Amino acid sequence: MTQPYTDTRDIGHYIHGERVASTSGRAQAVYNPATGAVARQVALASVDEVNAAVASAKAAFPAWSETPPIRRARVMNNFLALLNEHRDELAAMITAEHGKVFTDAIGEVSRGIDIVEFACGIPQLLKGDYTDQVSTGIDNWTMRQSLGVVAGITPFNFPCMVPCWMFPVAIACGNSFILKPSERDPSPSLFMAELLKKAGLPDGVFNVVQGDKLAVDTLLTHPDVKAVSFVGSTPIAQYIYETGAHHGKRVQALGGAKNHMVVMPDADVDQVVDALIGAAYGSAGERCMAISVAVLVGDIADKVVPLVAERAKALKIKNGMELDAEMGPIVTAVARDRIEGYIGIGVEEGAQLVVDGRGFRPAGFEDGFWTGGTLFDHVTPEMRIYKEEIFGPVLACVRVADFATAVDLVNAHEFGNGVACYTSDGGVAREFARRIQVGMVGINVPIPVPMAWHGFGGWKKSLFGDMHAYGEEGVRFYTKQKSVMQRWPASIAKGAEFVMPTAK
Ligand code: NAD
Repeated sequence: MTQPYTDTRDIGHYIHGERVASTSGRAQAVYNPATGAVARQVALASVDEVNAAVASAKAAFPAWSETPPIRRARVMNNFLALLNEHRDELAAMITAEHGKVFTDAIGEVSRGIDIVEFACGIPQLLKGDYTDQVSTGIDNWTMRQSLGVVAGITPFNFPCMVPCWMFPVAIACGNSFILKPSERDPSPSLFMAELLKKAGLPDGVFNVVQGDKLAVDTLLTHPDVKAVSFVGSTPIAQYIYETGAHHGKRVQALGGAKNHMVVMPDADVDQVVDALIGAAYGSAGERCMAISVAVLVGDIADKVVPLVAERAKALKIKNGMELDAEMGPIVTAVARDRIEGYIGIGVEEGAQLVVDGRGFRPAGFEDGFWTGGTLFDHVTPEMRIYKEEIFGPVLACVRVADFATAVDLVNAHEFGNGVACYTSDGGVAREFARRIQVGMVGINVPIPVPMAWHGFGGWKKSLFGDMHAYGEEGVRFYTKQKSVMQRWPASIAKGAEFVMPTAK
């Protein structure tokens, strides 16, 4: 059995290959959400500290970018082995600071590891195109070159996996990287920094600065930061995108979500109930791909709602280190209060509260940040609990008459991260996948997070920018294409040309 993570040391930065205590004089508490106790303090960087990290990354860049891709891949391979070796420790760290159950944290680390494995293939991914003889005696080829210092700003809900969407690909492409993790669960970032060093990564190629808006703004406006990847809530994503672009940076900013699961009358009811329970209440609904709306088409609603209600009431909600726990606490008291506030709003708006998770407190952990699973029925599209991201274990059921109404409903929503359709009809499934205005679609798959080589990204207000995270899109994001045309003196005809050159 893996031990709980109990390190009480203050959390500082990781700059130029070592842990650095902060001198900013600013810090905030990191909680254990299960007990509600302050577990340790995390530093909030000053402008000077961020500048020091950027300077370290800038100094490390020339040598690292000149390192052959196969050698960069070998460092990634070593890192991969270390992550596998320390998977349980990382997962325990995640459970201690985020609250998600240990078994789910293992899954998070594993999905992060997938991206590292993808990044190990960087020599193949960076191969350019070559055309012989584009004109007589002239060849043309393209290559992809690294950008320089790039930054990643990440949310609390996947403190290992979301950074892994970014830095393994960025570093393998030859960039140096600065991670600004969430201040709610900052420990995994430092642990991964130490593993990278053990893997042979030169000092300065990967730096971590802990912090808040001040650190983010310093990165966003710093002339030496060439690109910014962000994952978090939509208002901040939009701000990051606009501010970064204004300062001449390449930006990908992934935002919030409200993911629907459309359930057709011909779907298998037991499969639907299993899928809804896992996707709505897993990780306490604090997943950007969680299902928060069930769109129940026709009379299947009368079968699905009572079964989901029964299962939601029976959820094993406990300290995440208990191996049979299905759902843990909410990340902070503020987040828990926001979620429970939304439940009150839903009641006022006239939705039918079928299961009320408010006030749930497991014995022995009364001071933790708990709420139970909540289920609403008869939710309508004008309600705030339908429109807004609650980011907690609250499932809203909307009843609609037919498939077309279900598709229109999903398409009219401002978010477009993930969506699922449960049906046994291949024609309906195909039509759904083609017509739905959402970036990631699951057919009888509730949480269709694309695998490491496919790339992750929503549509509409779930993604600002055009390139998705990781996969080949990630490689494109972290590199710029250069086209080279070449000919040698023997093939150069005499005389100046004043017309647009064409193939001869
Ligand atoms: P958040 O937006 O509060 O924070 C994300 C990051 O931005 C953190 O590092 C934080 O320190 C920083 N930040 C916060 N306020 C800022 C400000 N005013 N200026 C500059 N930086 C600021 O998000 P969160 O609560 O940590 O994470 C939950 C959100 O992330 C949800 O909305 C969820 O849907 C979203 N999310 C989206 C995806 C996706 O892939 N689309 C994945 C995971 C999480």
